Formats: sequence, C-alpha cells, structure tokens
Amino acid sequence: MDPHGDPRTNLVGPLEQALHAARALVLADLVAREVAEADVVSLVEESIAQRRWWVQQWPDGAGFLAGLVAQDVQDALLDRYGRWPLCPVCGSGDPHALDVEPELGPDPHWVCHKAGVKVAAVGALGEAAGGAGSS
Ligand SMILES: [Zn+2]
Repeated sequence: MDPHGDPRTNLVGPLEQALHAARALVLADLVAREVAEADVVSLVEESIAQRRWWVQQWPDGAGFLAGLVAQDVQDALLDRYGRWPLCPVCGSGDPHALDVEPELGPDPHWVCHKAGVKVAAVGALGEAAGGAGSS
C-alpha cells in the first residue's frame, strides 16, 4: 500500500522500536519515582541518542537497550539529583539506589544488593512500589 516504501525504514525499524521501548520503560520508572521533569526527560533523550549510535554498530545488542539506558540515566541523575531509584525494599538504614542487572544483557531488573533481592523489572518500578495508592 505504501508507494514510498523505503528499504532503509525496514532496516532501521527494529532498532528504532527497541530504542522506543527502552525509552518508554525508563520513563515509566522515572514517572514512578516522580522525577520525570523536563530536564530529566532530556537526559533520557541524550542516552537514547548515544545508544542509537551504539546499537547501529551492534544490532545484536538491541535487547540490552533498556538496561543500558536505565544505567545511563541513573549515572546522569547521580550527578544532578542524587541517587535514583532509591531502594523501596529496605525501610531503614542508609538510603541507597537500586542497581540494574544484568548490566549488559536482556531482561534487565532493578536489584537491591543490600537485601539481595530483585525489586522489579526495568519499567515496572511503579508496580513494585506496592500499588497501595499514591497521594
Ligand atoms: Zn535495599
């Protein structure tokens, strides 16, 4: 149906989809932690732009994008805002951030190394917060 079918679109498509999915997952976690302000969203966009280049060099890494973008944003936030995302599991003691595992692999999760637990999949931090209603 599309007379303007561009073969390049077909090549780029899956990578763009993976980038789009990674962006959506990380933004969902930022929203869950109420730090999705405009300048934070731009940090995500910066990461996406860098990872776009990266994944074009290594298309097999498309499945790792969500974990990588999450870590990029985590690092960027550490400079500007402090630790993110704070561990929702450990109620006491020093506030600490969750880590992404695997650092470079598919199906990334936020984990608390202190408690030794998987907290949530990247993109599902909001669900891990308990869902008892936020107000
Ligand atoms: Zn913890």
